[in-house]
Amino acid sequence: MTLCNTPAEAAASRHLDKYRPVAERLGDFRPVEKRVAPEELRDGLYRCQDCGIPFCHAVGCPLGNAIPEMNLHALAGRWERALAVLLATSPFPEFTARVCPALCEGSCVQGLHEEPTPIRQTEKEIIERGFAGGWVRPRPAESRLGLKAAVIGSGPSGLAAAWGLSRAGAQVTVYESAARPGGFLRYGIPDFKLEKEVLDRRVELMEAEGVGFECGVDVGPDIGARLLRKRFDAVVLAVGSRRKRDLPIPGRELAGIHFATDYLSAQNRLLAGEIPVLPPGMSARGCRVAVIGGGDTGSDCLGTALRQGAAAVAQFEILPDPPRERAPGNPWPEWPRIHRDSSSHEECGERASRRWNVTTLEFLPGDRPGRVGALRCAEVDWLAKDGGRPAPVIRPGTEFVQPADLVMLAMGFTGVEDNPLYRELGAALAPNGVLARKPDFSVGDRVFAAGDSVKGPSLVVRAMEDGLATAGAVLAWQAARNGRRE
Ligand SMILES: Cc1cc2nc3c(=O)[nH]c(=O)nc-3n(C[C@H](O)[C@H](O)[C@H](O)COP(=O)(O)OP(=O)(O)OC[C@H]3O[C@@H](n4cnc5c(N)ncnc54)[C@H](O)[C@@H]3O)c2cc1C
Repeated sequence: MTLCNTPAEAAASRHLDKYRPVAERLGDFRPVEKRVAPEELRDGLYRCQDCGIPFCHAVGCPLGNAIPEMNLHALAGRWERALAVLLATSPFPEFTARVCPALCEGSCVQGLHEEPTPIRQTEKEIIERGFAGGWVRPRPAESRLGLKAAVIGSGPSGLAAAWGLSRAGAQVTVYESAARPGGFLRYGIPDFKLEKEVLDRRVELMEAEGVGFECGVDVGPDIGARLLRKRFDAVVLAVGSRRKRDLPIPGRELAGIHFATDYLSAQNRLLAGEIPVLPPGMSARGCRVAVIGGGDTGSDCLGTALRQGAAAVAQFEILPDPPRERAPGNPWPEWPRIHRDSSSHEECGERASRRWNVTTLEFLPGDRPGRVGALRCAEVDWLAKDGGRPAPVIRPGTEFVQPADLVMLAMGFTGVEDNPLYRELGAALAPNGVLARKPDFSVGDRVFAAGDSVKGPSLVVRAMEDGLATAGAVLAWQAARNGRRE
């Protein structure tokens, strides 16, 4: 079946009205997205071509979601069927429906010449109808495998690994060092992108299916490798890639310079009622803020600082501004590496600015002793010397001073955090600081690893996919082990 649309329909439905008005959303931390009107979504869905080769499914979506089938059912109003198709490949569509950059839409055939089909919004409508209709229910395994597994870390990869193992009949305990489960879903991504009730709802479902969560347990210091091995047949390390990249330039010791995830986590904990007030110096109220780093985390800092009442926010990225259109070396159906504005960037107004090709040379003290007051910056060009990789070179005469009494370092992560546990469990580090994993997903004897801890900082959807794949590898290992015993 081909879901053709007329050019008029297509033109009318190109842009979904999915955000709340800026003035309204800046006044709270509730989700920036509103529910898209059903007729608008339907008009967008009419544009799905049900392609013979669905690149959205085969190339775009790491989970391999059967997107054309899902769209087809949604368009016909068969929401429960659409949900069944979605849940066949995705354990937690409610997360990706909110925070995924929608790799699928990057390889949508419609996207070759106009806006792609609104796949992420469709996913959101399906899963939320599923919850509202009571169709998403706990589904404990019908029989038990006799496999006890510990999952260390409860980010999307740990949750997906635990989900996959538990559904197959393993007895799973998730250990989490933070107060509550979710990893960066809870303590990184702001509530205005992902409301935490969505996470709680899923954790409750998993608990009802038999997954145990033990939070506030720092595995390593609190439970050692020997005890883990004694208690469990298999261990999955899903500890994330959380060693923060620092900026060791003059003035780094000044107060008022924070890692972005500490800042974002504090705001999320405040909203969750975990802390009564923000830690000293963590509020941007009335501050001139500088965010160093132009990625997702930087943009989340920007949106958070604006909501906290910052006087001004400047975001600096050392890389060049990506092109507005795909470069020749980045053809469809690859993910388009183009300039993007997040919902936070749309909120910038007069108060905020964003610059590319900027490096920070020094943090300068302000009027208050020991506190940062400004950044000394310069513009850079990316030049390749002797056929090598391009490196930043300061553009002469471009130095400038940026006033800033609060600075966020949002420059990414450099691998797993230090923990002797990994060595004790037999795991080694790869040169890029993540856990070195074998093709069978193991990192040691009876020890497996998943998500960012293996792949480096990535996306929620990739962490989920890898958690599921790791669960599959543990199950395959268990089956082989049972086979050997018989
Ligand atoms: C601010 C921010 C915004 C982001 N925005 C997006 C977005 O919009 N879209 C998107 O797709 N991706 C986004 N990402 C990336 C995404 O969140 C990560 O790729 C994803 O969370 C990785 O999942 P994970 O399970 O591998 O690790 P994590 O989410 O990092 O979870 C690891 C967990 O392990 C726990 N842990 C570590 N060591 C131990 C131990 N010894 N004992 C017990 N527990 C331990 C940690 O406390 C943590 O809960 C964002 C990341 C950040 C930081």
